Amino acid sequence: MASMTTTTPMTAGAAPPGTGQAPANPVLADLVVDWFGAHARDLPWRHPEAGPWGVLVSEIMLQQTPVHRVLPVWETWLRRWPTPAGLAAEPSGEAVREWGRLGYPRRALRLHQAAGAIVERHGGAVPDQLDDLLALPGVGTYTARAVAAFAFRQRHAVIDVNVRRFVARAVEGTAAGPTAVSRRDLELVADLLPADPETAARASAAFMELGALVCVARAPRCPACPVQEHCGWLAAGSPPSDAPARRPQGYAGTDRQVRGRLLAVLRDATGPVEQELLDQVWDEPVQRGRALAGLLADGLVVRCAPGVYALPT
Ligand code: SF4
Repeated sequence: MASMTTTTPMTAGAAPPGTGQAPANPVLADLVVDWFGAHARDLPWRHPEAGPWGVLVSEIMLQQTPVHRVLPVWETWLRRWPTPAGLAAEPSGEAVREWGRLGYPRRALRLHQAAGAIVERHGGAVPDQLDDLLALPGVGTYTARAVAAFAFRQRHAVIDVNVRRFVARAVEGTAAGPTAVSRRDLELVADLLPADPETAARASAAFMELGALVCVARAPRCPACPVQEHCGWLAAGSPPSDAPARRPQGYAGTDRQVRGRLLAVLRDATGPVEQELLDQVWDEPVQRGRALAGLLADGLVVRCAPGVYALPT
């Protein structure tokens, strides 16, 4: 096994992502891909049967949401709407209803809008070109790259918070706090990817899985890590992060909680709901009104008549 000093430092001048160029440090990718083969979670959206639509749905659901909460909603969603056309043909309120308690329900509206755009622009098939994916409503840089890599087996740097952390530690030798993904991050990760697109796509999934299961934010499990002998952070003596500690976001008592309760009433109803029913979910009227106004502004709720509300149609 190579020593720590054999790790090639990444540079800001690395090749741009997706060029197909051979990686500057193939060792990391090889080790992580091997580890992935033995330790990857068996997730349904990683199966070929999931198809590009299943991958797109999973990527949007997994934003800020743990796998165990996404799994049942993803299964139900794909059973109900196995194609974008199926979802696009229904009112957006049905997407909000099926989203259930997954949280951040604006994602349900965005997914509905994306399904409509896929039908209109691409004949109902999720596009395989990065630019076309990026042009879909609600699909950002991360999601577009993830779908291109995981569904279409293309070579793209795919960077979520787990990959960002893994690369910061293993390649840059820092315990970087969470930051926005920069062009340089894309270059660093692209430089790690094998040249062959299929292997690169597998490496992208493997980096993400390693960051999620082993190179975790607090107390990384270095003794179980396949790249421990090449890790810049370990070689540097595991320096502490100088980023300010993040306080966990509270939920109880927040407007998010009130919005969740109001939306739950509307999801559970078969039709429009009177204001009095909504008033029962939260005692404090100012906060309740603010939460309802937010839902209306976001398009998650519509006012059918004075004092009567429903999911969007
Ligand atoms: S050795 Fe530790 S810090 Fe380095 S990549 Fe592996 S888990 Fe992360």
